[in-house]
Parts: sequence; structure tokens; C-alpha cells
Amino acid sequence: MRLRSLLAAGALAAGSLLVVAMVATWLSRGGTQSGASGAGSLSLAGAAAGDERPLLAVTIDDVPWTGRRLGREDLLARTERLLDALAERDVPAVGFITCGNLLPDGGALRLWHRAGMALGNHTWSHRDLNGADPAAWLADAARCDERIEALTRERPAWFRYPMLHRGATREVRDSVARALGRMGYRIGHVTIDNSEWVLSAAYDRALREDDAERASEIGAAYVDHLVEAARHFRRVGRERFGRETAQVLLLHANAIASDYAGTAIDALRGEGFRVGTLDDALSDPVFELEDGYVGPRGLSWLYRVAPAVTDDPWDEAAEAEIRARFGER
Ligand SMILES: [Zn+2]
Repeated sequence: MRLRSLLAAGALAAGSLLVVAMVATWLSRGGTQSGASGAGSLSLAGAAAGDERPLLAVTIDDVPWTGRRLGREDLLARTERLLDALAERDVPAVGFITCGNLLPDGGALRLWHRAGMALGNHTWSHRDLNGADPAAWLADAARCDERIEALTRERPAWFRYPMLHRGATREVRDSVARALGRMGYRIGHVTIDNSEWVLSAAYDRALREDDAERASEIGAAYVDHLVEAARHFRRVGRERFGRETAQVLLLHANAIASDYAGTAIDALRGEGFRVGTLDDALSDPVFELEDGYVGPRGLSWLYRVAPAVTDDPWDEAAEAEIRARFGER
């Protein structure tokens, strides 16, 4: 069933008893319902008193780097550029590390750590849980855990599944989630999933071809796309849960982020977001709801919540449009 018809049918609005209970809890904490009811001001879990702006956490995957391969100096310079853009804007991002890609001395990870950013485990080899042996996959994750601790003297708090693939069967999904919990991890859920990686590839090509005009056109499209994705998932939150939820943005450690993530975050603040920590964002009760999805796809948490929504017309249309404009030529 397509999202639109599902929403029209009221199947989602009806929700589960759990949703009702969560909203009731949230309302009892002093929140007021937003949206069509016009009942009053909007409140969020974790929001400072009186601050009604929706909370946005920024997360950056595939640290140290993804996309065009960089030499050590370029990698560190690009990483500094990305971290500076975040620091200038007081953005407490979380960097999810693919440990097998780190330089022997830690390289970019040391810069992230020194900048005071929280770190997460993104497995050693960016291994896809789909089709993997769960024990081998967990060993790959544990290897990254040890590496991060050895380099920073701290255990990483967060885990993010590569490709957001959480297990294609119920047994794998649940047993792996339990194992990660035993390792002390909190899952870094994503709500604003997007197709930024398509633009990243196009941007790297433009840089390689020294085509500054093309690169700036792609950079502008990156900012626009992230704003559109954020608007879309705010709408999904309002339609599914009757209120603004906190949002978690997924970006990657790539050249386009080092040049445009700052502008994109400025634009998102212009959309009304308040940028906060992942910890604060994930204290929104929407992240306590039941995961309703079992299957091979990587989905926004706002779609995973039971009953899961697996058909996202917006996402498909947005990706198709980006591919038509900036795909491989
Ligand atoms: Zn990744």
C-alpha cells in the first residue's frame, strides 16, 4: 500500500495502543498537541522550557571518509574543514566510524575526538547485515569497538547499522539488537534518510574535472535536497504521530559535506529547527515505539515504527530527480 493511501485510510493515524500511551505520557509532561487540532503550542521531549522548535541532531557516517579516495594530507584537511563548519555553528554532531578505513594512527578519528564530537561504531568493514553470518558480523562490529577505545580511551556510546540494514529476518534483527545492547550500545536511529550520496558522487566527479560551476550547482542541490528531505520527514511525523517529532539527519563524511554541510545546517535552522545532541533527539518517545519492520531495506525510523511503511513515493521521486540531473553522465 502506498503511504498516501495508507494515511488517507487512517490506518496510521489510528495507531497502536502503544502510540496512544506514548502520546499520553508526553502530554502529561506538559506537551500540547500540534497540527490540525490547533490546540496550542508545540512541545518536545528534551526541549528547553518554552522552546518550541523541533529538535534536529546531525550525524555523519563513514568517518573517516567516503567517496573519492584521498591522500593523508587531503583527508585530514577535508576533515578539518568539515569539523570547522560544525564547530563554527555549535553543532554537536556524532561521527560514525568505519574503523577499517582509518589510518594506522587513527588520522581523522583523532581530529573528531579532539573536536569534542561524540563517536559511534559503524562496524570495521561497513559490513552489510543482509546475508551476513550474524556472529561474523558482530565480530566485525566488536573489532571496531576495540579500535575506537584503543585510540580514544573511551568506549563509543553509539552504533549505526551500515546502510541502516538491521536484519532481514526477525531472528537476526532481534538477536543482533540484543547483542549490541549487551555491548553497551545505543542505536543511532535516523529519521531524515536522503539521497545525498548520489550528489556526493557527482560532486567528486566535478572536483576531479575541475568544474567549479558544476560543483557549486551540485552543492546548491545538496542543500535544497536536505531541506526537502527534512520537510518531508516533518510531514511524516505530523501525519503518523500527530505532532512534530525530533529528527535525526544522516550525512556522510564526504567532500560535499565538507563544503556544504554548514550551509545546509544554516538552511535547516532557517526552517525552524533547533540543533541539539543525538542523546536529546533520541529522548523523544517516538524512538521507544515498536520497530515494525523486518526485511532487507534501510528505512527511516519514522517508517519503521509499527505498522511499518515500506513504500515511500517521495524518496523514490527525489532520488530519481537527482539521478536525472546529476547521475553518471
Ligand atoms: Zn555507512
